[in-house]
This record gives sequence, structure tokens and C-alpha cells, in this order.
Amino acid sequence: TSYWGLIALSISEQRTWAQKDIATNHSNTVELALALHQSQQHQELLIANQELQKLALSDGLTSLANRRRFDEHLADEWQRLARERQPLSLILCDLDHFKRYNDTFGHPAGDRCLIRVARALLSGPQRPADLVARYGGEEFAIILPNTDKHGAWRIAQKIHDSIRALQIDHAPGNKETYVTVTMGVSTVIPGHENSPQMLVQASDLALNQAKQQDRNR
Ligand code: GH3
Ligand code: MG
Ligand code: MG
Repeated sequence: TSYWGLIALSISEQRTWAQKDIATNHSNTVELALALHQSQQHQELLIANQELQKLALSDGLTSLANRRRFDEHLADEWQRLARERQPLSLILCDLDHFKRYNDTFGHPAGDRCLIRVARALLSGPQRPADLVARYGGEEFAIILPNTDKHGAWRIAQKIHDSIRALQIDHAPGNKETYVTVTMGVSTVIPGHENSPQMLVQASDLALNQAKQQDRNR
């Protein structure tokens, strides 16, 4: 893009423009135009960088935070809550019999299902420091800082309800009529004696136990 502008200069009647005044004004004007142009380019570069940053940290299919963003946020919140001696909760959420869903309706339909589930997940947690991420394939993770186990349980219940409310038909023959999820929830007060990895492992263990107890819970 180029922009046009006009600079008007006046001089008192007693004087006339000297050749050197004209030259000075001309070069000042050129400098000003260059400065404006450069500042505009700088602005565009800043915006482009912000866009890149966003892309690098978000999941291409669902637009949720990606695994990288999840790891960063978990580490940051871990540090903060260790200082504040406040609880941190983590929910891992996995779609039930999703391979069956794909095998029946096809991979593109599976993708659309994941997008709808992702949107429902976002409606659960509400605080600015909460983060909903796509942890991997059909598995999602929700970071809940300053949240104890009762709070985390409430959010998990809310998410479970909102996914059921989507009423996405599952494959014929599936035990549940609609697409369901199973979740693992764990809570810790961060400290030196434990680590973010241990919190993830604890949620993963809970998730696997819930899967063994017939899923959808
Ligand atoms: P379970 O209830 O035990 O979790 O069974 P499951 O079938 O969901 O678990 P499994 O891990 O066997 O299969 C996960 C499936 O998720 C397999 C894979 O095809 C599907 N999947 C993972 N990522 C994507 C994706 O990005 N798009 C689609 N459409 N499917 C995906
Ligand atoms: Mg699954
Ligand atoms: Mg899985």
C-alpha cells in the first residue's frame, strides 16, 4: 500500500523562498515520508510476528492450544503456584471408542466431531489462567490453576454434560447412543517434591482406571 499526503508551507510576504529553503523543506518531507513508511512496515512486522506466534502455539484442527503451549503454560503455572502454595488441577479427557467412530463415519467426520468437542470443552473452564489444549489425537487436557479437587470435579462434570448435550450420534452398535468422553482428574500443591510430569501421570492413571470401569465417566 502507498499513501498520499500533502504538506503545505507558507512564508511571510516580506520574504521569498530561497533556493536552499526549498531544498531543505523538500528533503525534510522526503525524510518524513520515509519515517512514516518505516513505521508502517514495523507495525506490519509486529502483527505478522504475533500471528506466527499464535500459529506456532495452536492446534491446526481445533484451534485450541497445542501440546507445546500446554507444556509452557503448565510449567509457568507450576512455578507461580509453588510460590503461592495454591492447588493446581489437571483434567485429561479422551473420547470413548473413537476408533470405532472413525471406522464407521470416516476420518473427515471424525475431524468434525473433534472440532465440536473442542468447542464444548472451551465452555467449561472460565478463568483467564485456565487452559484447554489438544494434548494429542483425540485426547484433550485442561489446566486449572488455583483450583482444588472439588472445583476440578465440578468443571469435569460440566464438561461431561456439555459433550453429552452435543448429541453427536456414535456408531451403530456402540453402547452409548451419543459420543461420550472419559476423564482423569488430579490435583496437587506444586512443590520441589513433585513435578508437572507427576501431575500428568496421575491424571493419566485416573483416566485409564476410568476407561477400565466401562468409560463415559
Ligand atoms: P478408548 O475408548 O479406549 O479411548 O478407545 P479409542 O478407540 O478412542 O482409543 P484408541 O486409542 O484405540 O483410538 C483413538 C482413535 O482416535 C484412533 C485414531 O484414528 C483417532 N484419532 C486420533 N487423532 C485423530 C484425528 O486428528 N482425527 C480423527 N478423525 N481421528 C483421530
Ligand atoms: Mg479414545
Ligand atoms: Mg486416546
